[in-house]
Amino acid sequence: MSRQQIFGMMIIKHVKNNNMDCVICKNGTTKQGFATFTLEKNNVIIVFKNVPALICENCGDFYLTTETTNMILQKANQSLVKGVEFEIINLKFAA
Ligand SMILES: [Zn+2]
Repeated sequence: MSRQQIFGMMIIKHVKNNNMDCVICKNGTTKQGFATFTLEKNNVIIVFKNVPALICENCGDFYLTTETTNMILQKANQSLVKGVEFEIINLKFAA
């Protein structure tokens, strides 16, 4: 199983540019902000906090850049490899 299949649902919502219309509600525009979300796989739960994201002003759904998604997937897989069951990863102080 490739890394991208492990958390495949995240791949869908890549941003194409920095000022896009929301594809979920089709009624809002996205703004730079920070998102908190949870990934779950094989009984492993990983909470990501302060993830740089484009957030829809209307419905609150968010989008990640390819760069951010790759970083998230890398960290998620590091947690899987470590064998933890639960981890909180705060990106607030990450570069
Ligand atoms: Zn929206």
